[in-house]
Amino acid sequence: MKKLLWKLCFSYLLLATLTLGISLITASFFLKQFYLDQARHQLEAQARLFRSSIEKNLALSTADINLLCAEFSAELGSRITVIVATGHVVADSEKSSAEMDNHADRPEIRAALAGEIGVSLRRSHSVDKELLYVAVPVRKNGTVWGVARAALPAKLLDEQLASLRSRLLLAALPALLLAAVASFLLALRISRPLEEIEQGVLRFTQGSLHHRIHVVGPLEITSLSESCNRMAAQLDEQTAVLKKQLGLLESTFRSMAEAVIVTDRDGRLLRCNQAAGRLFGFDPAAVTQRDIQEIIRHADVQQFLERTLKNGGPTEEVIAVNIGIEKILNAHGCLLRGEIDQDGGALLVFHDITRLKQLETMRRDFAANVSHELKTPITAINGFVETLRDGAMHEPEDAARFLEIIARNVRRLHAIIEDLLALARLEQDEEQGQISLSWKAIKPVLENAAAVCTQAAEEKGISVELTCQDALKAQINSALIEQAVVNFLNNAIKYSSAGNAVMLRAEKAASDEVVISVQDFGCGIGREHHARLFERFYRVDKARSCKLGGTGLGLAIAKHIVQAHHGTIVVESTLGRGSVFSIRLPL
Ligand code: ADP
Repeated sequence: MKKLLWKLCFSYLLLATLTLGISLITASFFLKQFYLDQARHQLEAQARLFRSSIEKNLALSTADINLLCAEFSAELGSRITVIVATGHVVADSEKSSAEMDNHADRPEIRAALAGEIGVSLRRSHSVDKELLYVAVPVRKNGTVWGVARAALPAKLLDEQLASLRSRLLLAALPALLLAAVASFLLALRISRPLEEIEQGVLRFTQGSLHHRIHVVGPLEITSLSESCNRMAAQLDEQTAVLKKQLGLLESTFRSMAEAVIVTDRDGRLLRCNQAAGRLFGFDPAAVTQRDIQEIIRHADVQQFLERTLKNGGPTEEVIAVNIGIEKILNAHGCLLRGEIDQDGGALLVFHDITRLKQLETMRRDFAANVSHELKTPITAINGFVETLRDGAMHEPEDAARFLEIIARNVRRLHAIIEDLLALARLEQDEEQGQISLSWKAIKPVLENAAAVCTQAAEEKGISVELTCQDALKAQINSALIEQAVVNFLNNAIKYSSAGNAVMLRAEKAASDEVVISVQDFGCGIGREHHARLFERFYRVDKARSCKLGGTGLGLAIAKHIVQAHHGTIVVESTLGRGSVFSIRLPL
């Protein structure tokens, strides 16, 4: 911008100098004209004055006329010459007339002899100088007798003119100085606001769109700065909108549970989200522009990408990948259309449906298990009913035995259906958030559970020993916790030998938990079964469980109840030594 200042300054100064120069040249031209006119008038007056004197003394001798010329010349300061009609010089104030040639051809003489006033600026042959001549006719008795001429050296005129010109130039110098200062100030007035605008625009380009340019200067420049400010405000607004939209897109992209991968048409990764990184085990920030084959080493995923890029249309597939554990993915793929540099790339979305598939399998297994569990007692009932109809009903002893078997299987069916209904209710209530928890004392709940199992315990001579502080409280649903404890106690009684003790305890654990546990000293459970004990219909010894009236659902129900309390269920058991089933409830 400093350059602009000097350029403007120089231009203004040049303009001022040119104007001044032209004015000076014009002035000097007119001045010269004026001087010549003045000199001409002066010479004419002198010539006329001399003429009036000579006309009265035409009778004088040549020597006297020469004397007169010399006198006038001395008086007037100009060269005086007298020429007769033939062109012969009679007298001259500067040179002897005898040495002078005929002047008839001189332009001023010719004009004067013709009765006019002759004027001429030319070099004199006689004195070899540039002279301004004015000649007037001298008359005698009405006719032209000769010419009286007055002349001034042009050099004198030039000298006067030169001195005047140098004075004019001297006078122009302060004007030029003033013009220089004015040029500088004027250039500054334009360049400074432009400089401020340039700084402002530079700040805009660096991202400070809130900055505003304030300049004082000519209207065009202030309106330029206002336009720049308006442009910055609009850019700021648009950037904010874009940032917001981008932020929204980014957060959507980041929060998606589905793994999203965007590649170019050559299969190089352009973008992906955190879920993709988590699923395939890479850092999303470190893999951009790398070939997808290097990042995801699963043939199925690579083939899916290839198919998507080849097919063009949307693709959907279920693919299984092993990333430490087996995962089932629902993959969607389509081609990107829009931005030129991304045209032809692919968008892949992977939805982890492993859990869904597991649930599906579980549901299928459950249906098969339920059918199987129900089929066994129904087949037995059906078989014995047929036997009775085939005649056994007429054998009282057999009939009573068969009826007892039928009744036992009906009880079993009833127990299974009861447990299934309890499970279904629990799941439904859990899903609908209908399981209400409240601060309640634990001891009464445990007492009720023990009371429910008293008969079964007494039948086997088993004592249930309860240990719990009266003040111990937890956030529970009393009925459900009672049911879970009853299931534990029933198992403990079922799988303990007669006369053993069963310990029912509740206490506050150090880590802000209430632990309710049921310990028996019965047959115990092998370690390999621990993980699956809480699955529906899972039994360690099916025959024994069935014989003891078990449905295989007691522990599954207990697990659901504990989950509804946000707690955990734990089993510790050693084969042949007994088991401890515990419920840990957070406080
Ligand atoms: P069940 O009705 O068969 O008892 P559960 O779901 O209550 O069904 O228990 C599942 C299986 O866990 C039982 O069949 C049994 O083999 C084993 N089990 C549960 N509790 C005990 C225990 N206290 N001692 C030994 N085995 C047990």
